[in-house]
Parts: sequence; C-alpha cells; structure tokens
Amino acid sequence: MNHLTKEEIQQFVSFKTLDQENLKLAAKVNSHILKCDACLNAVRELQERYDSILCTQEEDTPLCGFEKEEQEETISL
Ligand SMILES: [Zn+2]
Repeated sequence: MNHLTKEEIQQFVSFKTLDQENLKLAAKVNSHILKCDACLNAVRELQERYDSILCTQEEDTPLCGFEKEEQEETISL
C-alpha cells in the first residue's frame, strides 16, 4: 500500500477550490485514511495546525466561532 505523501496531505488540508484535481486528491486521501491510521493522524495533525494558522491570520473570516457569538448578541438586543 502506498502511503500519502506530505505534499498530498498538505494540499488536501489547504485547498480552497474544489477543482477536478483537488476532488481527485480528496477522494484518494479519504479512501486511504479509512484504512490507514498513520495517514489519518497525519492529516488530522496538519489540519489542526492549518486551522490555527487560519484563525490567527484571517480574523475576519467566521472560522473560529467568533462570528457566531456576535450574531447571538445581536439577536438578544
Ligand atoms: Zn497511509
């Protein structure tokens, strides 16, 4: 069984558009991590690191849950 490469995992967690190539990659990664804990852990770890980078760099995007809090506040007024 061929494991996923670091590059593939990196691309998988960081792609922003679902073009043909990324869809193919996503299908490959998803079917592999169903059978392989080592790669599943690698994907998760990188995903977490990538998410935390996004949260610190793009504060305007509603990725970190702040947006939700603001909305609830507006509703209660
Ligand atoms: Zn693997």
